[in-house]
Amino acid sequence: MTTAVTIRHRHGEYPVYLGAGLLNDLPAFADRHLQGRRMAVITDRNVARAVPTPLEVPTLVIAPGEQSKTRRKWAELSDKLLDLGFGRDSSVVALGGGVVGDLTGFVAATLLRGVPWLQVPTTLLAMVDASVGGKTGVDTSHGKNLVGAFHPPVAVVADPHTLRTLPEPVYRAGLAEVVKHGLVADAGYLAWIEREATGIGQRDETLLTRMIHRSIEIKARIVSEDEFETGRRAVLNAGHTVAHAIESVSGFAVSHGEAVAIGLVAEAALAEELGLAQPGLRAGLRDLLQTLGLPVTLPADFLVDDLLAAMGHDKKNRDGRIRFALAVSAGEMARDGERWTVVAPPDQIAAALRTVLPG
Ligand code: NAD
Repeated sequence: MTTAVTIRHRHGEYPVYLGAGLLNDLPAFADRHLQGRRMAVITDRNVARAVPTPLEVPTLVIAPGEQSKTRRKWAELSDKLLDLGFGRDSSVVALGGGVVGDLTGFVAATLLRGVPWLQVPTTLLAMVDASVGGKTGVDTSHGKNLVGAFHPPVAVVADPHTLRTLPEPVYRAGLAEVVKHGLVADAGYLAWIEREATGIGQRDETLLTRMIHRSIEIKARIVSEDEFETGRRAVLNAGHTVAHAIESVSGFAVSHGEAVAIGLVAEAALAEELGLAQPGLRAGLRDLLQTLGLPVTLPADFLVDDLLAAMGHDKKNRDGRIRFALAVSAGEMARDGERWTVVAPPDQIAAALRTVLPG
């Protein structure tokens, strides 16, 4: 069954079509949304093998992984499209995960000052996170996503069937964000994920479709509310203050999804430590993430001081004010006046981090 969620943004709106088997209808979606334009597909090598495109158009294949999200690759792809004679009447289709989506979106944003693009996400993360919000871009040596543009796709076609070939760690990484969506906005959804954890782990397509639908709705609502009531979007950073520190201290050996899972548990401990959250929030989250196959403790050899330093709380910056998006209870976030984040003192952050040390 096809369902559609409408994503509203500051310049308009676009539909996300969702349903198992929808990829077969991609030519019809492309006709509908790209209206006879010239088209090229951009994908990566793994996706090209696992998810063959039904579109008979030029296909540009990049190497898989974050290392392809560069200005160099953006320039190469743009040049190839220009070599093919692509002009104002052209368009691109991103078939792949978040890397292909961000890079293709940025190519589309800049080619001839902007051509339309269709997004076909093939990872859980790309479906529930990257397909909502219109952010495109590339990484630089100064950090991730530092050069980019706001350029929403004209439509998203998400087919949960494509997730069957996803490597297990990549699939689970998406689940960390799904749990976050329940935590920050919908207690009923979080309880449903708990009840259906086994089937979700087995990638049951009916459950996946329902889950992706609800997660997209939640992110879309938060992002669109943010355009009127500033700051709400910050709740999507739940778990991420600690996660970014973990990624950085590990030299990116811990993946983003794993870091988010540990970060969600550590930040729930912090919320309890600060007396904001009801006792039990941390234990419930930890059990759920563990059931979903995600790590809930730091790898061995991690030092709390290194994590604090990565968050800006080093010795020179003892009174640095680090803000966290913390849940008070499932579905309800702490507020500080008009802000959706709260400041925590270093001692309490350290105490919370100690709860996710191994052993
Ligand atoms: P990814 O695109 O690197 O994909 C992960 C791996 O899975 C890759 O090796 C890829 O080749 C492979 N793969 C993808 N689909 C497959 C399939 N169906 N079958 C088999 N293998 C498949 O990573 P990701 O986790 O999808 O995305 C991460 C990126 O997304 C980051 O660069 C992040 O910054 C970005 N992101 C962007 C937004 C946004 O709002 N624009 C939001 C979240 C994340």
